[in-house]
Amino acid sequence: MFNLILFGPPGSGKGTQSEKLIEKYGLVHLSTGNLLREEIANNTPLGLEARNIMDKGHLVPDEVVIGMIDNSLEHHKEAPGFLFDGFPRTLAQAEALDKLLLLKNAETDLVIILDVNEEELIKRLVNRAKTSGRSDDADENVQRKRQEVYKRDTFPVATHYQKMKKLVHVDGMGEIDQIFQRLCSIIDKKRKSTPQ
Ligand code: AMP
Repeated sequence: MFNLILFGPPGSGKGTQSEKLIEKYGLVHLSTGNLLREEIANNTPLGLEARNIMDKGHLVPDEVVIGMIDNSLEHHKEAPGFLFDGFPRTLAQAEALDKLLLLKNAETDLVIILDVNEEELIKRLVNRAKTSGRSDDADENVQRKRQEVYKRDTFPVATHYQKMKKLVHVDGMGEIDQIFQRLCSIIDKKRKSTPQ
């Protein structure tokens, strides 16, 4: 099993790169943002609750997203590995993921953080808002809030994995394919040294 966390602030390219990476490596893509948007689209009680929180740029409660990840891991028992995108976003979520994977005799093998400067992040989010249809992209104050929440609540997750020597920085500036090649070379190196 090979488990990868793609980490970085909103707008750093996690979603775009995840799509390419799952195709190349056959990993199961677990994006809590996508799972929450599915709940919203299906008008479930969870979706209705999550929508209010997401529209303000806040984080959905840990128990909710940890529950969703737990369910997804159970659903994909035969998966060759997972790509976590937008999860974990708090230390509590990171610790819960460590435990859930341990129960499967697995672990997080690699955490890649996409480094993108703030000016570029805002530029990308403004562009994304034109086509994404995401209500949390449309409002500049909400975008700012999401960057703040990232720095305050989510960035400590990087330190958690750095202490475990699992964190690798990748330059997230430039062309999509160029960034993808950088990611692949780090992943290939790690996979060679990890028993599958
Ligand atoms: P994303 O698509 O990853 O940018 O997530 C969109 C929104 O969904 C976030 O701003 C949060 O409100 C919510 N969300 C997604 N993943 C998580 C998570 N792991 N923990 C808490 N909230 C989340």
